[in-house]
Amino acid sequence: MTRWLAEYAWLPDHAEPTPDVLIEAEAGRITAVTPLVGGGAAPAGVEVLGDAVRLPGLTLPGLANAHSHAFHRALRGRTHGGRGDFWSWRDVMYDVAARLDPDSYLALARAAYAEMALAGITCVGEFHYLHHGPEGRPYADPNAMSAALVEAAAHAGIRLTLLDTAYLTAGVDGAELVGTQRRFGDGDALRWAERVDAFRPENDHARRGAAIHSVRAVPAEQLATVAGWADRNGMPLHVHLSEQPAENDACRAVHGCTPTRLLADHGVLGPHTTAVHATHPTSGDVALLGESRTGVCLCPTTERDLADGIGPARRMAEAGSPLSVGSDSHAVVDLFEEARAVELDERLRTRRRGHFSPAELVTAATVAGHAALGWGDAGRLSVGDRADLVTVRLDSARTAGVPPVGAFFAATAADVTHVVVDGRTVVADGRHQTVDVPTELRHAIGEVTS
Ligand SMILES: [Zn+2]
Repeated sequence: MTRWLAEYAWLPDHAEPTPDVLIEAEAGRITAVTPLVGGGAAPAGVEVLGDAVRLPGLTLPGLANAHSHAFHRALRGRTHGGRGDFWSWRDVMYDVAARLDPDSYLALARAAYAEMALAGITCVGEFHYLHHGPEGRPYADPNAMSAALVEAAAHAGIRLTLLDTAYLTAGVDGAELVGTQRRFGDGDALRWAERVDAFRPENDHARRGAAIHSVRAVPAEQLATVAGWADRNGMPLHVHLSEQPAENDACRAVHGCTPTRLLADHGVLGPHTTAVHATHPTSGDVALLGESRTGVCLCPTTERDLADGIGPARRMAEAGSPLSVGSDSHAVVDLFEEARAVELDERLRTRRRGHFSPAELVTAATVAGHAALGWGDAGRLSVGDRADLVTVRLDSARTAGVPPVGAFFAATAADVTHVVVDGRTVVADGRHQTVDVPTELRHAIGEVTS
């Protein structure tokens, strides 16, 4: 058994952190969570052993990064030299994608996931579409790139949901994939399902899920094939949705409806589905998403980096969509920044404050994100859940003097000191236990950009 004594811990359904909490775990599961009443005095029957690991600061459940493209980490700081928009950024992204193979993909993803571990991320949803070799030729193992990601997460010490992405066409009009995009395509949804069916990660740190890249990349008549596969296998289904007004315009021109309506009509929406971005939904779209309990993953630092716009987060939450967050393009890997941006961007949009409580932001970054990735037993400090702990120091230049309840408005990823995933210590004293993260990032990015 392992015991930790948290100076403060954010317990489920609490509006603010609780002081002096003893957390016990065995075989990767939380077995007891005991607040020590009155600041250190154990209730009758609870013995605080001297071997309890002391966790100064605020201990949170594991953070879930619900939307990632690991290889985009290589683009950080390299796309700010000129003007442009999402579409010109995408050309630069394709240049990196063109250079990756299973070995360089493993090295880059391992470093990127280890950076996530340092930031307190215990589980990542990898929206994976770079499936095949140059010109779209499958590797000898058609799932070699998927296997690289699973191995990368194991090295980094975090859990992974591999959201294997169907990417079949270049536009809503059904245009063929060209250039680097050919590496993404499986031909049609049935062949996508055949490839994905053949991939069975052995390790229990990784699970499979499905993704529809967007209504641009999967023809309407094939949406139900992907959704049906996810449903039959009881897996989460993710989809990029209305990140750009141009996607809405193209969908209306071809199908006479919004992308959300198209997804609804083909059985894609529902409680196991997560719409990523949902930056430009209509009022009707917000209602469709909420009524179907479709989740929404917001990626505010990417949306600001790409000049996408600001989605109506509060309205979507009110309509019934659980909100999660993701670092997407990894312009920033910091879920504190993503979570507070959910509130702060609403302030910019509405010129009013106070849309989300701190506890709601914690929920988005933890339990809601894990649920969106198919891990219903993670993201809460409660008995029976996975023993994921993330401790944030409250004595740094950024957090000193900040009340624990305000940590999500003050802390950065650099304030994470201790990270436990499934009971194993992955980060201690701010250092990853097995990966030299800056060195590996520099090498892996050098390989694909020089
Ligand atoms: Zn994305």
